[in-house]
Amino acid sequence: STDKNEDALRELQESIPEISKIFDVHCRIGSGTFSSVLLGTLQRERCLSETSRRRFAIKHHNPTNHPERILRELECMFRIGGVDNCIGINCVVRCNDNVAFVMPYMSHDRFHDIYRSMGVQEVRNYMRNLLIALRHVHKFSVIHRDVKPSNILYNRRTGKFLLCDFGLAQKIGPDGSIVQSELSNAAALALMRDMEAARHLMLQDGNSAQDEVQEYLSCQQEQRVRALGGGVAQALAQAPLGSKKDVAVQRADTQRLINRLRFVNPTADPNNYVSPTNDNKKEVHASRAGTPGYRPPEVLLRCPTQTTAVDIWAAGVIMLTTLSSMHPFFKAPNDCAALSEIINVFGDIQVRKTAFMMDRLVLLTQKMTALDLRRLCMRFRLADHFISMDVLRRHCKADGTVEACKSCEQATFNCLCRHTSHKIEKYEGLDIFPAHAYDLLSRLLEVNPQKRISADEALKHPFFSDQHR
Ligand code: ADP
Ligand code: MG
Repeated sequence: STDKNEDALRELQESIPEISKIFDVHCRIGSGTFSSVLLGTLQRERCLSETSRRRFAIKHHNPTNHPERILRELECMFRIGGVDNCIGINCVVRCNDNVAFVMPYMSHDRFHDIYRSMGVQEVRNYMRNLLIALRHVHKFSVIHRDVKPSNILYNRRTGKFLLCDFGLAQKIGPDGSIVQSELSNAAALALMRDMEAARHLMLQDGNSAQDEVQEYLSCQQEQRVRALGGGVAQALAQAPLGSKKDVAVQRADTQRLINRLRFVNPTADPNNYVSPTNDNKKEVHASRAGTPGYRPPEVLLRCPTQTTAVDIWAAGVIMLTTLSSMHPFFKAPNDCAALSEIINVFGDIQVRKTAFMMDRLVLLTQKMTALDLRRLCMRFRLADHFISMDVLRRHCKADGTVEACKSCEQATFNCLCRHTSHKIEKYEGLDIFPAHAYDLLSRLLEVNPQKRISADEALKHPFFSDQHR
């Protein structure tokens, strides 16, 4: 990891030498699929004490990234970012096909370290902040498309929250189709602002060596504007858009899912596979960007018209993680397995109805009853309680057998069905989350995207107003 750290540092400095003229680059602070993110401070602030130096996150895009992707991200950060919990950008530095975004650095907690210990108030604040960010993004008819914990910067101590990584964001038209941005204009505009920002950043309070810096900037500025405009246009011409390789739907290997959910539903049949198809077997072109476990049914079903409801589902998955203390909650290796995970929780009827609406057919070898989200969450959170021998013994009949639920054939104490009449275990007093939390959860995770709650509506949900329980 130290090696990788140094590799990332060297790569940035070698591919964009200008960075080293402006910043001291210290270490790698993160890396996603498409970039390395490094911590930098301004050289001109070296004289200041360590604590008063401003810190920046320098996102170095992999040179293999499509310029369209980089520009889209840049455009989003300029137009949308900087307010309402959405990350902003200070400046962009580019050299040939290497691009680095400079953003304010924010120290944050790793979701992995904190999701198990988030209480009601913290979940409430976290979800409120996330929905504020989404409400803002969605006002621009933009789908973020990659809402997940690693793209959220959250500091537990300060409560600060930033939605970041607009690398997959898409603008949608009124009919739900994807709008291609006017790249050359956007690039020019972005760069102009970039230069203003860069100058601001470096000259803010300094008078020393002013002429020198001015000269440097004015020369670089022109060069850089020209370079980006020309270079990107060229790169775009070479790599035409819309060459998305849509992978054919494969029959899912659901074994992993079944193993994961076995605890919840031990009777689930490993041969229960799902296969979203459409009648005429035409290739379906629909956007599928994102991470499998956070993709909503409409994306998994390849619905060509998608809306901002895509992000709301992802927010629901995050909330489900916090209420169940189970991360990642959905962990499918591919879309089919992801859809069967959803069917296992929300039932086959819901998913089939939504699929039908989108002209898709979902084939199943087994029916699945919808689970009660509260029971499900508590099962994961209080696993030890539910499977204790004590509980088992209490539910054994005299002959040693246990009464089974007619729907899921589970022992009644183990049944998680939504419409069950078995009230064996008392949840009250065990659950730290109020009923409102589960109500909001079910609205965020509404299978039908047309009925799914919007960020704006969700913020008015009683979960956010009941401050006590
Ligand atoms: P990618 O597009 O490669 O996924 P991200 O923008 O998601 O890149 O950044 C990758 C990681 O870098 C994040 O998960 C986060 O840990 C870290 N990171 C990104 N931006 C910042 C920032 N402004 N401050 C602190 N850390 C950041
Ligand atoms: Mg990311």
